[in-house]
Amino acid sequence: MGQPLVAGNWKMHGNLSTNAKLLDSVRQALVGVNGARFAVCPPFPYLEQARQALAGSNIAWGSQNVSEHDSGAYTGEVAGAMLSDFGCTYAIVGHSERRAIYGERDAQVAAKFQAALRAGLVPILCVGETLAERESGDTETVVARQLDAVVAAAGAQAVADAVIAYEPVWAIGTGKTATPGQAQSVHEFIRKRLAAHGSALGPKATILYGGSVKASNAVELFGQADVDGGLIGGAALVADDFVAICKAAANKGK
Ligand code: PEP
Repeated sequence: MGQPLVAGNWKMHGNLSTNAKLLDSVRQALVGVNGARFAVCPPFPYLEQARQALAGSNIAWGSQNVSEHDSGAYTGEVAGAMLSDFGCTYAIVGHSERRAIYGERDAQVAAKFQAALRAGLVPILCVGETLAERESGDTETVVARQLDAVVAAAGAQAVADAVIAYEPVWAIGTGKTATPGQAQSVHEFIRKRLAAHGSALGPKATILYGGSVKASNAVELFGQADVDGGLIGGAALVADDFVAICKAAANKGK
């Protein structure tokens, strides 16, 4: 495993005033907290606000999406180099909301992953099954397909060097969390799948769990051997909750 990471996905929430309070509270509460990496991913317009609020702190910032193209006539898109320009460390790619609502397919997600790398960003690659796929016993097939598409395009080493977030779609924003055992089982599967490309790759990978992580369940989830932290939606908008989750990951990393 890599050093634990907790990344907050703010989705399309916040404004200058609420962000300022959230960033300030989180920054202050995490001073001197070691053992894990921390990041927030605000909407694009607020990346500069995050940069100003977090510069010099132990909290990085990143985007929720990135174009697969480097520049050009792509109205409404944001290139990886632009995100690097604003000091982003991470770019989330293939979030299930992008896949389900905006029709992003595996090949496009793989292209976005590669674009993030070209710009010097660390992709946070999201994979995960829907409820119907889980109930029909297809969880591993779906996760393998999503992972393999990126491995085929970018190579297993690049995927192991990035961050993978296992996010069962049925647990995102629903209040339903995967049990620690369910999360561990898929994380172990992902690690083994990477290790099949090279024995060092599995242990190296940082694999986050995402899906209704809360202050109350983070310790147990992060206590699983193959869970290296979390990608946090709703709870990332509440400073005390996000900080508690970050501290749970930091304790694991010590
Ligand atoms: C997410 O959107 O990546 C997520 C995990 O959301 P939530 O924590 O709200 O389920």
